[in-house]
Amino acid sequence: MSKTTAEYHDGLSSKVVQVELTFNDDGSIGINGEGIGKLCLLDDVSFSPRLGNIPRVINLPDGASCHVADNDLIDSFLKAQRRGAGSSFIHMLESRIIYVIAAVLFTALFSWGMVVHGVPYFSKKIAFNLPEEVDRQLGKGTLETMDRIMFSESQLDTHVQMRLLSRFDGMKTQIEGSQDYKMLFRHGNEIGANAFALPSGIIVVTDELVELSENDDEVIAILAHEIGHLIHRHSVRMVLQNSAVAVLIATITGDPFSSSSIVVALPTILVNANYSREFEVEADDYAYHYLLDSNMPLDSFANILERITGDDSEQGVENYLSTHPETSDRLQRFR
Ligand SMILES: [Zn+2]
Repeated sequence: MSKTTAEYHDGLSSKVVQVELTFNDDGSIGINGEGIGKLCLLDDVSFSPRLGNIPRVINLPDGASCHVADNDLIDSFLKAQRRGAGSSFIHMLESRIIYVIAAVLFTALFSWGMVVHGVPYFSKKIAFNLPEEVDRQLGKGTLETMDRIMFSESQLDTHVQMRLLSRFDGMKTQIEGSQDYKMLFRHGNEIGANAFALPSGIIVVTDELVELSENDDEVIAILAHEIGHLIHRHSVRMVLQNSAVAVLIATITGDPFSSSSIVVALPTILVNANYSREFEVEADDYAYHYLLDSNMPLDSFANILERITGDDSEQGVENYLSTHPETSDRLQRFR
């Protein structure tokens, strides 16, 4: 026989009465307190499963219940009465720290794997299979936003525009799948000398970039780099990756609100967040091979990029150069 105290709920009111429980060797349970005197048989009551140190609930046949803090006492009583239900599977898991650590490690590894490999992989798959209409809308929306928040109309001489456009048309005849690409001129204002590749094949070149160039080959080299971003669908992949990571974080933390600040719109990514180094290297590769194949001077790319970096404005091409110290490595092969 063993005794402990419990909180008695009559199941009808919110009143709580302190009672004494007596666990008898014959399996019966005595409940005694102010105005309460009961004897229940083990077969007529049910026990909530053990979950850490949360008080156990004994449900009595008349709808009343007892909340018992002494879990161990209940476990040993049930064990003595050969009722294994006292130790639930969940309790077993919770009390074995190794399972907890394994679960945490698994979650961490799984998340890491998803962010590092899964998200980029699926973003790439999706980006290359995006319906044309979605791509077109994304490009249009991004350009509209950029026009509203930073660009103004190009003030570039029409002859210069025509000359560069015809060079760009020449590039398109050399590059498979580039027929729908469009080059647009905009005044960059605070963005300065810059170029952007938007979804659906729009390349925006700022007046400032053209003004900073010493010859058309330098602009073409930048265009080749931007075409590299388009061919590899970097802008769409960037948006998908950023949103997927946000969704993943929300899923793991269970906090959908923390993700809204992480979900960044494409204009923000293009102007502030920048492409990953991997994407820049891919675009550089593209420019490198284009210049080689077209017998153009390789250093036209390096020269203009360095001039952009040397510019006192904070922004480089896609702001990339100012934030990555490895610029000189990146330009090495164009020398
Ligand atoms: Zn780039």
